Amino acid sequence: MNDKTRDYADRLDVVQALQALVEKKLTSGTSGNVSTRSDTGMLITPTGVAPDGLLPEHIVAMNLDGHVAGDQLTPSSEWQMHADIYREKPDVNAVVHCHSPYATILACAHKPIPAMHYMVAAAGGHGIPLADYATFGSKALSLSNLEALSNSLACLLANHGQLATGASLGKALKLAELVEEQAHCYWGTLAIGGPNLLSKKEMDDVLEAFGNYGQQRCPPKRDQQSEPES
Ligand SMILES: [Zn+2]
Repeated sequence: MNDKTRDYADRLDVVQALQALVEKKLTSGTSGNVSTRSDTGMLITPTGVAPDGLLPEHIVAMNLDGHVAGDQLTPSSEWQMHADIYREKPDVNAVVHCHSPYATILACAHKPIPAMHYMVAAAGGHGIPLADYATFGSKALSLSNLEALSNSLACLLANHGQLATGASLGKALKLAELVEEQAHCYWGTLAIGGPNLLSKKEMDDVLEAFGNYGQQRCPPKRDQQSEPES
């Protein structure tokens, strides 16, 4: 595959990832944004283009300092949080952000997801954290996200939505879907008196079984990681 063909294929992956968010009912309108790491920075969805009208040539190629070369569309207003994640987390190659309904409900209520279901561990820790509120598109929001992601692959964004990362677009998408499922489940348990939480030992056992225990501190080689079962 030559560079041009590869660039087109990478852009198409980003388009299809945003459209998959719509199909999975994780986003609507123009609120979701998706990116993937590239050789020179990242490829990210533009601002203000509806997913069903998005084409590979609309995807914005930019460096991690925010520079957009040539005549391209304006990148997502959340480009900074994508760029800062790639800069700070070398194992991350894809970022998905959306306002999926149940994750957003919890984010608006400032309720991070605790260890109420073993699959919470698929985000890499004992719960799915909540990033402090800051204005959309701001450096402050990016910094609060980075703090929440220091021991997690995903987080809720207070009064905003959710964000999921991964070694590939497929993994980041799958994690965003899981965050929404877990948020829905937690929301449901809150209606009947709250969840019965798993212990630290029980969650450690799940993380070990997933093969990603401590992955934030000492990443295993990618081919040694096992896929969590769903
Ligand atoms: Zn947003």
